Amino acid sequence: MPIPIKQTFTYAVTEAEAAFIKRGMRVAVSFGKTKMYTALVYAIHQEAPSLYEAKEINQILDETPIVTERQLAHWEWISNYYMCALGDVYRAALPSAFLLESETVVYANAAFADESVLTDEEFLIYEALQHQSQLTIHQVADILGKKKVLPVISEMLQKEVLIVKEEIYEQYVPKMVKYLRIQQQYASDTGLEALLVSLSRAQKQREAVLGYFQLASTKKPIKVKALEESAGVSSAVIKALVEKGVFELYEIQTDRIQFDGSTQALKELNSYQEVALEEIEASFKEKEIVLLHGITSSGKTEVYTKLIEKVLETGKQVLFLLPEIALTTQIISRLERYFGDKISVFHSKYSMNERVEVWMNVLQQKPKAQIILGARSSVLLPFSNLGLIVVDEEHETSYKQFEPAPRYHARDTAMVLAHLHQAKTVLGSATPSLESFYNTEQQKYGLVSLNRRFGNVQLPKMELIDIKEKHRKKQMKGHFSDRLLALITEALEAKEQVILFQNRRGFSPVVECTTCGVAPQCPNCDVSLTYHKFKNELRCHYCNYQRAMPHNCAACGSNSLDTKGFGTEQLELELKALYPDHQIGRMDLDTTRGKHGYQKIISAFESREIDILVGTQMLSKGLDFDNVSLVGILNADTLLNFPDFRAHERSYQMLVQVAGRAGRSKKQGNVAIQTFNPYHQILQQVTTTDYTAMYKEQLQERWQYQYPPYHRLIKFTLKHKDYQKVDMGVQWLAKALEAVYGDQVLGPTAPVVSRVRNQFIKQLTLKIKPNQSLKATKQQIEKIQNTFFSVAAFRPIRLIIDVDAQ
Ligand code: ADP
Ligand code: ZN
Ligand code: ZN
Repeated sequence: MPIPIKQTFTYAVTEAEAAFIKRGMRVAVSFGKTKMYTALVYAIHQEAPSLYEAKEINQILDETPIVTERQLAHWEWISNYYMCALGDVYRAALPSAFLLESETVVYANAAFADESVLTDEEFLIYEALQHQSQLTIHQVADILGKKKVLPVISEMLQKEVLIVKEEIYEQYVPKMVKYLRIQQQYASDTGLEALLVSLSRAQKQREAVLGYFQLASTKKPIKVKALEESAGVSSAVIKALVEKGVFELYEIQTDRIQFDGSTQALKELNSYQEVALEEIEASFKEKEIVLLHGITSSGKTEVYTKLIEKVLETGKQVLFLLPEIALTTQIISRLERYFGDKISVFHSKYSMNERVEVWMNVLQQKPKAQIILGARSSVLLPFSNLGLIVVDEEHETSYKQFEPAPRYHARDTAMVLAHLHQAKTVLGSATPSLESFYNTEQQKYGLVSLNRRFGNVQLPKMELIDIKEKHRKKQMKGHFSDRLLALITEALEAKEQVILFQNRRGFSPVVECTTCGVAPQCPNCDVSLTYHKFKNELRCHYCNYQRAMPHNCAACGSNSLDTKGFGTEQLELELKALYPDHQIGRMDLDTTRGKHGYQKIISAFESREIDILVGTQMLSKGLDFDNVSLVGILNADTLLNFPDFRAHERSYQMLVQVAGRAGRSKKQGNVAIQTFNPYHQILQQVTTTDYTAMYKEQLQERWQYQYPPYHRLIKFTLKHKDYQKVDMGVQWLAKALEAVYGDQVLGPTAPVVSRVRNQFIKQLTLKIKPNQSLKATKQQIEKIQNTFFSVAAFRPIRLIIDVDAQ
């Protein structure tokens, strides 16, 4: 059952059904009093359950299995390793259209028009949806006067008459490119002459107009970007002309998911890439897994494509995993250029129909699904013949799912999947996780390094700016040191772009009363609210609570509320004042929330409509821009001071990755890091890109304090709205674990934000020794968990077990 219950359930089938049914097929069954679920056939047997009467199944939903034997074996591993129900994995794996249940809500698909394809029953439902906007499966059953309606719904989903609730996403994100044309009245010679006279004192604007007519002679549509480049003018000049009514802007949608049919040959590798490729292949002779440690912009992607090409020749499938956020059109279109329609993309932002389609294509080994490019959940697809898995940016923490179960790590889960298929895995990163690098030292994985940037562009020049001193010498303007401003100005003058990184969104993290020192708190969470200037409101980043910015302090009544610290929004405002003639863009959770938000900003930056892009860590994720010569980090200290044993490793990874966006294509770029603490080890290691030094030092600490990769961690999180209850529960659990594991138990502790959405949170961590049996430990934990829930007072507590917690 697709529910978080560990056991399986037995249902009765007729003899005819038994002859037809197979493991991996779906059946509709009723559960509890009224619920109906889509269950998966797990075993066919002849033993009647002893504790309950087996109900009959409602309906068989598939002609052939849609889940494979290998998949089931993989799911079993996930459920054992990550300590969750098999049903949790089943639910996470299947596109929701495959998991209809009695509460599922269906809507009419507005795009559907051809009523002639509908059967009588289908027409009844279709008609009902013309009168009301939605129907539950129960209501459909009432309309049709029968219980077995899932097949009808399935068929209607296939015909695209209906959609189910979560399909609110667009099929794909259209990419818009900006063009311009001159207004009609200036197209004639006399009109143009008059215009040029009127612009005689605006030299740059004149040049733009003249440049336009030069380009116009080719009779092709003119891209804004092309005019800026050929006439040597900034986007502000074009904007002024648009405002004067000289130019008119328009957009053309360029499709990217729709593949246009022409592919290119793979790029020739340079000699370093060639050697890396040979080393990977040699390593694969002995090992299943190889780590490709290649600095940013060394051309790892091109090396992967060569590996992929060879695997495709053998007729096998390839899985290319990326962290969700990096799944931009950049990488999709890059791979599509080489492999054309052999690629299918799979991630949660895709519509239900597309996900169902990919599922079936993978299952049936269709030519379209030879390469799956996907985020985390694509490791759960029904591969039948995998040859290679690529895990790009393997250090990314977003590979670990936290909520809901299964709390799996896609990288580790992928390696198990590869093993089941006897396939190979290549992990790639410029900043490998300590765990993976450690595994290469242990000879578990092969290691291949790529230490040159493609085209021999040097890694950016890094410099640390001591802002403590800059403050003392009064050389700061707002949050910018004079040095950083000089670098920005220099880059802008050279018509290059700038990325500025600040790990905080909003205007300022905290609003504080300067009279009494109290900061407005979220009523639902134990955290201060963040000020968002744009809407003049306070927001909670944990539960999305929002309220207008108050005029007075709630504690003392004075009107001395002050904004402290700084976030992306404030930087954007400061920059607008400092560089009024340039375009400033912002990329953070707030500006990328909309459907196309993320893509819009990236496209605008790519087409150079934005000169300076300010953003949070979203900026560090594998983007490839060719005109960025400067990356500035506003304050490295907030990263370093995060209370987590991985904070230093993470800081190193994030800073090196952000720095890697600079100077990728032509000349060496610059990176400037502002900090109060320029002698911090990690910052020294970042500026020299000394991964080995970082690795050795961190590893030493992990050994000393007994953390991964030496010890494994299992984290227990307890939540309840009654503080007493959580506290009692966590004390009990701590004692029970300590009785067996002594000082391997850490806690109880409260997380930094100890109440979220009115739920109090307490945590415990169990450290598992290198030679301790994982299996036995998990069995022991399960025993303790069962006893825990047999105490009536603890039953309402939510207990989350997170294996290999990040
Ligand atoms: P990485 O993934 O290691 O950061 P990329 O694969 O994105 O690096 O490569 C960086 C840039 O260099 C990209 O723009 C890519 O197109 C280019 N590049 C890499 N290898 C080659 C090659 N062999 N021939 C031509 N261009 C290449
Ligand atoms: Zn809150
Ligand atoms: Zn006050």
